[in-house]
Amino acid sequence: MPEPAKLDPSKAVSVEDRVGLDKFEFDEEPFITVDTAICRTCESKPCLYVCPAKVYRLEKGELVYNVEGCIEMGACAVVCKHLGKDAIRWSYPRGSHGVEFRFG
Ligand code: SF4
Repeated sequence: MPEPAKLDPSKAVSVEDRVGLDKFEFDEEPFITVDTAICRTCESKPCLYVCPAKVYRLEKGELVYNVEGCIEMGACAVVCKHLGKDAIRWSYPRGSHGVEFRFG
């Protein structure tokens, strides 16, 4: 098995670099689902800004999401419910699936 990548501690490291070190075992069972019909009525879309893994993005003005890089923070569900929209159904991936953190 190859050694995981290491970061140089003497250099500034971006969030993207750190997330890029993580390993994922994708769960084909959907563990996050989003009611994008509700999202169309959400003006501020805070989920776009809280997720360092960029699970959420806009495509032609519509919210789209891809859970493959989810690092399981749950912040998207917190900010969504905080605003009273409750469009996100969030749970952890099944056992042995999901993120494995590698801190470099
Ligand atoms: S915060 Fe919730 S309702 Fe708003 S765009 Fe994101 S998922 Fe949709």
